[in-house]
Amino acid sequence: MSETSDVASVPDSAASTVRREAHLATYSREQINQVLDATHLAHVGIIAADGRPTVIPTLFGREGDVLFLHGSVASRLVRTLADGLDCCVEVTLVDGLVLARSAFLHSMNYRSVVVFGRARTVEASEQLHGLKVISDHLLPGRWEEARQPSETELRQTCVLALSIDEASAKIRTGGPTEEEPEDIALPIWAGEVPIHTSWGTPVPASDLPEGIAVSDAVRAGLRRR
Ligand SMILES: Cc1cc2nc3c(=O)[nH]c(=O)nc-3n(C[C@H](O)[C@H](O)[C@H](O)COP(=O)(O)OP(=O)(O)OC[C@H]3O[C@@H](n4cnc5c(N)ncnc54)[C@H](O)[C@@H]3O)c2cc1C
Repeated sequence: MSETSDVASVPDSAASTVRREAHLATYSREQINQVLDATHLAHVGIIAADGRPTVIPTLFGREGDVLFLHGSVASRLVRTLADGLDCCVEVTLVDGLVLARSAFLHSMNYRSVVVFGRARTVEASEQLHGLKVISDHLLPGRWEEARQPSETELRQTCVLALSIDEASAKIRTGGPTEEEPEDIALPIWAGEVPIHTSWGTPVPASDLPEGIAVSDAVRAGLRRR
């Protein structure tokens, strides 16, 4: 089981030190965790067995300073990670379009995190816990509502843990910057268009028997949004 480190900042390394627009960077564990917790989707970059850089989208869960990933034991991503090879996990939330007068200075508002490291395959005794962390990250409370994994399902699933000990976040907020006075004088609208992600109304499965209400976990998730 993982605990949150009492070190407030993730140590940066040669690889994880932000160089471009370094003023947007943070290594604060709190801010890195906030970004990780605000999204469900991670992209994992690996060098696949054929030598090609490959980026695969996947669910994840965070507990303390550890990211849990999972997948079929047959998946290339899982096999590569289980081999202990270097990987890079990235998450991004897009918060807005930044529209400058100059085409060159257009940008986005975002929160992103990049984590480097090597994952470890968790022991059988930690497998269910890792799956629960991933499930809680997807929707708190759903693990307890769902049927628990069978022995066969567990055998088909690999759970991996990656320590968040080489990581950075980059966070951009606000409107366009660095525009020249002559551009600011142009009659072109400039500013930020915020982007919000929201949940829709739950749609029951087509084969859901009548009389089963939307679950507590889903209703609680909708209330939090
Ligand atoms: C939604 C979005 C859109 C973007 N669009 C563009 C674009 O169109 N063009 C462009 O050049 N850049 C864009 N960026 C910024 C981009 O992510 C890089 O930060 C930038 O390209 C510099 O990359 P680099 O490898 O040269 O940076 P470096 O500063 O040399 O990277 C060194 C290290 O800093 C860390 N790092 C770099 N970028 C990030 C990041 N975004 N989040 C967390 N850690 C990071 C990594 O550990 C990396 O290994 C965008 C970012 C986001 C989130």
